[in-house]
Amino acid sequence: MQPHWIAERMSRIQASGIRKVFDLAKTLTDPINLSIGQPHYDVPEAVKEAAIAAIRAGHNGYTMTQGIPELRQRIAERILKERPGAASDLGKRGLLVTSGTSGGLVLALLTTINPGDEVIIFDPFFVMYPHLVTLAGGVPVCVDTYPRFQIDVDKLKAALTPRTKAILFNSPANPTGAVADRESVQALAELARERNLLLISDEIYRLFTYSGRFVSPLEFNEDVLVVEGFSKTHAMTGWRLGFAHGPAPIIEEMAKLQQFTFVCAPSPMQYAGLAACEYDTSDWTAEYARKRDRLVAGLRDHFEMTEPQGAFYLFPKAPWGTGTEFVTECIRNNLLVIPGNVFSQKDTHFRISYAADDWTIDRGIEVLVRLARQKGPRPD
Ligand code: PMP
Repeated sequence: MQPHWIAERMSRIQASGIRKVFDLAKTLTDPINLSIGQPHYDVPEAVKEAAIAAIRAGHNGYTMTQGIPELRQRIAERILKERPGAASDLGKRGLLVTSGTSGGLVLALLTTINPGDEVIIFDPFFVMYPHLVTLAGGVPVCVDTYPRFQIDVDKLKAALTPRTKAILFNSPANPTGAVADRESVQALAELARERNLLLISDEIYRLFTYSGRFVSPLEFNEDVLVVEGFSKTHAMTGWRLGFAHGPAPIIEEMAKLQQFTFVCAPSPMQYAGLAACEYDTSDWTAEYARKRDRLVAGLRDHFEMTEPQGAFYLFPKAPWGTGTEFVTECIRNNLLVIPGNVFSQKDTHFRISYAADDWTIDRGIEVLVRLARQKGPRPD
């Protein structure tokens, strides 16, 4: 083995800080785990049955790279139902079933980003974004959204250069739980159109919107490239099913690349996806809204925070020390949360996931309040 066998690009891609927390978690006995980025409930029974039936029926081979026609049809119908205005545009738009939302993001960036192209990402950001931009040869350019985590269009404009190619946008957002308001989404979508920038909208938490209504930039700009998936809404994180829709020429290129990389999304899961589309997830949304309220009520008096309106995360400021110092003390107290610098150029905040049962959330609140009062790490 020669060190140079590892490509130079890998030195610019760090292992996810979340993995480090998960490795630490393995050393704790019965930790209070508020670090997980997936629902605490299981895949709906009807969806499991559909997957099993598909496997038994022999849907175990490759599918068309674009995805099975039934699922593409079903997803297209949903998009049309939600966005009736999109009807006239849908002919110009393509739809591709992908291996998770991550698969859609990888294909989207590799298909559109040239070496040296700048891609705007809003800080705090989903962990993958800067690395995927780097993988594609692009340059991630962060636009700070602290402390309210809403888009400031003037700040965004100031970050644009002649090399800016795309904007990567996520609402409801991981790790902040922020939901961009209608005016900001419209301003963002219109700015992208005026400046001929590709707007990529990661809508994976679309159904986890509690206060206000989810607004997609697609409402205001028919050239938006949307990536989405079933991982969070249907607790199918391990099943790797997502989809992307956008301008037909981009989707065609993404399909071409998928043919030579992922080949297709897992076949039985595409059939299960049909059942997932029929499943009403509103009870879960209501349950998570209640969990959000429970956590916020428990921490509000002790932490500086912007109340989240979606996803299943809270991103408070560390009450003392850096995000990493505070999280280290949390872990010493058997509580797993994620330091903010995993998602940000800053190390001032930390992420709590409330995708957990109420008992775990309550134990987490108890530890967090105690540590906030402690005003510093406990001496050994
Ligand atoms: N985008 C965001 C904002 C996410 O939080 C995640 C999962 N944590 C993904 C994409 C990737 O999801 P998937 O399992 O569909 O690849």
